[in-house]
Amino acid sequence: MRKRVFPALILAVSMLALCAAGCSTSDKGAGKAVSSSSGRVSAASSPGPQTSSGAPSQAQSRAGSSAPSSQSSTAVVSTATGSSQPGVTVYKTHAGIPVLCYHDIMLPAQKGSVNNSLVMTTDQFDRQMAILKNAGYTTISFEQLKSYLINGGDTRKKVVLTFDDGYKTSCTLGGPILRKYGFKATMFIIAFHVNAPDTPADLKHFSIQYVSRKDLDANSDVFTYASHTYNMHIDLRTQKNDALFKADLLRSRETLGGTTYFAYPSGEYNAKVEHTLRETGFQMAFTTHRRCAHKGENLFEIPRMEIYSTLSEKGFEHQLGIL
Ligand SMILES: [Zn+2]
Repeated sequence: MRKRVFPALILAVSMLALCAAGCSTSDKGAGKAVSSSSGRVSAASSPGPQTSSGAPSQAQSRAGSSAPSSQSSTAVVSTATGSSQPGVTVYKTHAGIPVLCYHDIMLPAQKGSVNNSLVMTTDQFDRQMAILKNAGYTTISFEQLKSYLINGGDTRKKVVLTFDDGYKTSCTLGGPILRKYGFKATMFIIAFHVNAPDTPADLKHFSIQYVSRKDLDANSDVFTYASHTYNMHIDLRTQKNDALFKADLLRSRETLGGTTYFAYPSGEYNAKVEHTLRETGFQMAFTTHRRCAHKGENLFEIPRMEIYSTLSEKGFEHQLGIL
């Protein structure tokens, strides 16, 4: 079941958190946010020198979401210089690896029919990928990310792209754009959809469609596939049946070729959920804590930055420290 997100109100402080928690900070405390076992981020101070318009004008209101309004971060800016734009601070140093989280993609002609800041247009997504390409970024695999998180290494111009839920248009519309720029991404799939019969993509109307096995096979050159549960796309902190949860996780792994990577639905988790993931053979799990991933991260609390359709190109650049 899809949880369509209809934006609500966002606090000004979350705009600061969004930008300040980007990846353009030094290793020394860079973008650090204190995570709790509840899957949320406890508040810390934000330097807030940001005036970029990148923050979403509206927050996510889905149940149990790690909405930006619940987050803040402490970012230590090592080198900030002036910008051609008054009030926009340029960060020169880079640390950590941004893991970007997308959801669905639609055609520009469909814009206006969808009031959901998690749905990008192909134009927006193409522009963001062009920004990354022009800035010299390359996409790295989960295996490379894992190696960095454990051993450290050069983080410059590296990014990880992910898509949540397994929407058909992520493949049919996002795949060609990734291919165009030579990028790769991982799709976290609600795996039971893969076993449903394939239906042609409806590009005349924006509609909820999920990837089929045929889609996975056709796009395996640019996508790898990981688990977003088999059929428990809920706030996992609320699930009470451990046996059922374990069976669901194992079935998702089996359906998706034995993947050991997982994204928490709505980014929500607690110590018990994390423990069950470890027990069922997973090796990394991703949250929606809005900051870069650094060496020494808990591999079951890897931060990701959700990208909203309300994010401007300048805001996107700022978030990744590209400016
Ligand atoms: Zn999801």
